[in-house]
Amino acid sequence: MSIQENYNDIKKQLPSDVQLVAVSKTHPVSAIQEVYDLGQRVFGENKVQELAEKYPLLPKDIQWHLIGHLQTNKVKYIAEFIDTIQSADSEKLIMEINKEAGKHNRTINVLLQVKIAEEETKFGLEIEEAKNLYRKYLNGEFPNIVITGLMGMATFTEDRDQIKKEFLILKRLFDELNQLQPLQTLSMGMSDDFPIAIECGATSIRVGSAIFGRRDYSK
Ligand SMILES: *Cc1c(COP(=O)(O)O)cnc(C)c1O
Repeated sequence: MSIQENYNDIKKQLPSDVQLVAVSKTHPVSAIQEVYDLGQRVFGENKVQELAEKYPLLPKDIQWHLIGHLQTNKVKYIAEFIDTIQSADSEKLIMEINKEAGKHNRTINVLLQVKIAEEETKFGLEIEEAKNLYRKYLNGEFPNIVITGLMGMATFTEDRDQIKKEFLILKRLFDELNQLQPLQTLSMGMSDDFPIAIECGATSIRVGSAIFGRRDYSK
């Protein structure tokens, strides 16, 4: 199927209140422009350098989301233009994002990335850490960021019950933090599991290969 067919097919499956982040990592600017021309405005990349190279070549009304692990010393390369950092996984990183956003007199949207997968994963906050950070944020500690929600990734498995169980852990935390102060975004679900994520309450999904085709890392 073409990119256009893929994109229209995904859009058809999405409830109107679920946001689609088109994950364009490893794909060329021409493919991003093609999806942009179909009306898509929110794109996700997982590497700072790749994003910083693509950014100047594409329309300025794209909302860029960073979805991959971010090292503190690289925040400065995207602070001027990034819309949302979905992969905020430590207090140190959040402090750095807050500082760099301040330098540019702007605020950056942040999602707390929470570890929900049973499999060993390197990145993500523990549930308690996420709660503590949200409380600090509500106490005004990070004035140049807006914590808009949570992001999580389920275990890479065929076991739908396992995936569902993990998404529901994040949904429960989302509901709990939402009572302290409302959050907008529950980002979970990728090409293979987004229907389950939506069932579990996702408000935003991150879809790459189902739109752009398989990634070729050999190039
Ligand atoms: C690559 C990536 C996606 C998209 O993955 P697909 O399986 O291609 O849809 C979503 N979220 C994160 C964090 C990613 O790194």
